[in-house]
Amino acid sequence: MSSDHRIYSYSAVLMGSPILLKLYSHNEALAAQVFRLIKQYEDLLTVNRTPSQVMEINHAAGRHPVTVSRPVFELIRCAKAASLVPGSAFNLAIGPLVKRWKIGFKGDSVPPAQELAALLALTSPAEVCLDEEAGSVFLTRPGMEIDLGAIAKGYIADRVRDYLRKAGETAGLINLGGNVQTLGSPEGGWTVGLKKPFSEGQALVGALVVSDKSVVTSGTYERYFERDGKCYHHILDPRTGYPLDNELDSVTVISTDSLDGDIWTTLLYGMGVAKGCAALRARPDIEAIFVTRSQEVILSSARHFRFTLLDNTFRLTD
Ligand code: FAD
Ligand code: MG
Ligand code: MG
Repeated sequence: MSSDHRIYSYSAVLMGSPILLKLYSHNEALAAQVFRLIKQYEDLLTVNRTPSQVMEINHAAGRHPVTVSRPVFELIRCAKAASLVPGSAFNLAIGPLVKRWKIGFKGDSVPPAQELAALLALTSPAEVCLDEEAGSVFLTRPGMEIDLGAIAKGYIADRVRDYLRKAGETAGLINLGGNVQTLGSPEGGWTVGLKKPFSEGQALVGALVVSDKSVVTSGTYERYFERDGKCYHHILDPRTGYPLDNELDSVTVISTDSLDGDIWTTLLYGMGVAKGCAALRARPDIEAIFVTRSQEVILSSARHFRFTLLDNTFRLTD
């Protein structure tokens, strides 16, 4: 590709997030198709309004199974498998807790411990029952709720990449707000910024250069509220019902599929730096950047990306 090739940017607001699409061709029609595709998946997967297939499953909890479309079934199967890994911080049945805390939405509050204990009893991933033949999902107890907020963007980012490839694009980038998926390698790669936690505006800790990779960041700073001097963020510990409390401000995962990236950011949040780096030794296809509260930036490895530190108040370790 010639170095004077222009990048064309298109934007929209979907899934409560600003969405940015970059293409190497001027193609308004393709951009409109991509935004329509995202909207279609949002309508299937959202838990923020009715109707959606996930909301139908939640409304039928304790009463009857709901037959869903194949992509929804596959995504729920994948989310259930990730939730059942022993010690997993990821739980697709976390819905009742997310709805009660309302972190990032109007009416957020700290629930009494007793109430959290009662809601925790409604979050067992084993009680999300899948019927392969019928393509149906059944939540065994009334009050149970699936929440795919931690992985739906990853799944959708992968579908956008596949769509662009099928449309004949050789290079493109989709940013769904926290989930970046890239196609191709324009001029040596795509540059993706790593946000500085809790900073105003666009301040960056560093920048990554990737090709044909997804970059997913989960941060405690993305959605949170403060009460009585304490910060409550939106990544909940399915073992306690409270926000995960450890040394981390953010975790970024670099992987081929954004769905893997989305699952692993939550898993690694639960593990913390030491256990997380140890777990990734068995997964050379997945790499992570941890940003700690004490302003350390730790790379698990860097085989599939280049990283440059841009803020010298942070220390880089690898
Ligand atoms: P991630 O770290 O990837 O995920 C955190 C989210 O996962 C939490 O917000 C919660 O929903 C869930 N979660 C928390 N703890 C766990 C856990 N232990 N295991 C599994 N999941 C957990 N936002 C709006 O403000 N308005 C909207 O209309 C809106 N619509 C949306 C529609 C769709 C289809 C999707 C996918 C998201 C939508 N959102 C909307 C954003 C949504 O509410 C979440 O804030 C967002 O999905 C969080 O993603 P993240 O990548 O920022 O964080
Ligand atoms: Mg996410
Ligand atoms: Mg996630």
